[in-house]
Parts: sequence; C-alpha cells; structure tokens
Amino acid sequence: MKNFIFTLFLATIIFGCKSKNQEENQKNKKINEFAIIIHGGAGTILKKNMTPEKEKAYQEKLEEAVRKGYEILKNGGSSVDAVEQTIQVMEESPLFNAGKGAVFTHDGANELDASIMTGHDLNAGAVAGVKNVKSPIALARKIMTNSDHVLLSGKGASEFAKKEGLTLVDSSYFYTEKRFKSLQRAKEKMKLELDHDDKSAFYDSDIKDYKYGTVGCVALDKKGNITAGTSTGGMTNKRWNRIGDSPIIGSGTYANNETCGVSSTGWGEYFIRAQVAHDISALIAYKDLTLTEAAKEVIQKKLTKLGGTGGIIALDKYGNMVFEFNTAGMYRASMDDQGKLNVKIYKE
Ligand code: ASP
Repeated sequence: MKNFIFTLFLATIIFGCKSKNQEENQKNKKINEFAIIIHGGAGTILKKNMTPEKEKAYQEKLEEAVRKGYEILKNGGSSVDAVEQTIQVMEESPLFNAGKGAVFTHDGANELDASIMTGHDLNAGAVAGVKNVKSPIALARKIMTNSDHVLLSGKGASEFAKKEGLTLVDSSYFYTEKRFKSLQRAKEKMKLELDHDDKSAFYDSDIKDYKYGTVGCVALDKKGNITAGTSTGGMTNKRWNRIGDSPIIGSGTYANNETCGVSSTGWGEYFIRAQVAHDISALIAYKDLTLTEAAKEVIQKKLTKLGGTGGIIALDKYGNMVFEFNTAGMYRASMDDQGKLNVKIYKE
C-alpha cells in the first residue's frame, strides 16, 4: 500500500512536470515571424446602433490601415515604420478620434495626445495637448528619436514639431461636424443633469455612452522587434488641459522585446491608475503568464474592479496576438505572417 501511494505520488509529480513543460513548449514556440494588430477605440459599440454603411466604412478603414503595416513588415521593414504609418491611416480618417476627427474639448478645441515605444531599447516618445500637428504619432516618434525627452506638451511640443519639419495645420483641419455636435450634446447634458458629476462631463449621446475612438497599433517585425503606438483626441468635453492615458508610457502604450507590446483604449483615468500596458508586460516578465492570461488579469480583473472601461490590443515576442476588452465592442483588426486578416467590431 505504501509503495502504491509512493508510486502515485511520483506519477503525480512526473505528470505535473510534463504538463507544465508542454505548456512552456507551446509558449516558447514562435507562431508568427511577423504580425500586426490594431484598434480604433472601444466602447458601447452595438450593432443595433450601426447602419450597414457605417459598419462597412469602419471595416474598410481598419483593413486599409492594418494592410499598410502588414506590407511594410512583409517586405522586411521595421515595426516602428509599420506602427507609425498604420496609425497615420487612422489619424487621417474622420472615423476615428485621432488626428482628423478628434473629439472637442469643453472650449471647442482639439488637443491631441500620442505615444510610441520600441521594445528593443525601451525607448519612448510621447506628446500631449498639441493643437496644430497633423500627425501626433509622427511627433511622438521624433520626440523618441531626436530629443533627450520622453514626453513634451502643448506649445513647446508644437515648436519642436516645427523644428523637426513636421506638417503643421490650422486647427480647422481637425474639425468634423459629428464631433462638434457631440460636444454640444455633452455640454447640454451636463447643464441639464448632473452639473457636478464628472462622469457626465464626458457624456456623448451620439452612442449613448462615453465616446472613445482612440487608435493604436502593435507590430512585430522580422528582426523580432516590437513597437507599440497610440494616438487620440482624448475624451469629448475634456477641460483644464486634461491628459489621458494615451501619451502615458506604461498606461496607454508599452513595448518590450522580452515580453510584449500593448496599446490601450478606454477611460484614460482608470488606465493610468491601473498602469494597464506595463502591468501586462510585467505579469509576463515576473509571473511567467502567457499573453492571454496577463491581458485577462489586467482588463477583466484589475481594471474592471476599479470601475474602468475599455480594452487593449497586445502582441508578444512569439507573435501571439490578443484583443481584450470589457466594453460591448472595440474596433479592431490583425494580420499574421500568412496574411490572414481578422477585422471585428462587436464582442463575440
Ligand atoms: N484613452 C483615451 C483617453 O482617455 C480615450 C480613448 O481611448 O478613446 O484620453
């Protein structure tokens, strides 16, 4: 009997080790030589509130953007070029809350935020509250490569953009009627209802929710370099030069070749408090979690418990890709090294 129990004990250990090793093997297998994943914002995006035309417009733009980066990666280009150029496709589209089509502040202006990080050297660049730079993600990249700083803001950031020869535009470039109306509705709502409830400050009745629409991209290139980037107009009706998570390295964007790259979208204050992007990387680095486990832990447990809403896209060094969100939908797309395209809007 004693022998039997001992054999059972040994078998349990051996079997336990084996299954652990099997898991590790799966985890250590490179499944994509290169890959790209993008988002165009998360929120209460419901099919019943969509017209087929609007749905198609989003799907087509997401596909155009992800293909842009895919081609760069396929041809041996760098993940930093892929991320910048993919995000620029979405910044130039009025569909998304980034660049043209950015939401309005309480005072009727557009204040843009963006960040980018490269995983091979943990270098990063970010910009907050610029009003006249056509491509905030291009400025974030210049700050990363051509300055001694990580985060520049406001007027100084615009001066730096000018010095670097980036395209400056009149603030009217960012105007879209849809976003301007959203601001009017948000202000009306604020006046009528909860004057001092800061949640109502962001209300956008356009989608019966707090309107998001930030864009982000994470790419892995053939050299194994991961880059992550995010660009946004922030949240409708923001005041007092409010800055969200998007330009905050570790919250809105993070990349590390040893672990993963992450870009966030959602209610920025919560993403800053939960340090969402870095936390996902840290769980992989320190706790040996898989990308999926880490993303679930941070979004579905930590962020949700705090009361935050939104989601992330993430891609690890093996080319695994994950979309994780706690909202009804997230505009999103990905392509693997075989050219397999995945475009989605709603939760499934
Ligand atoms: N995270 C952004 C912010 O809080 C908003 C968004 O993702 O749409 O500024």
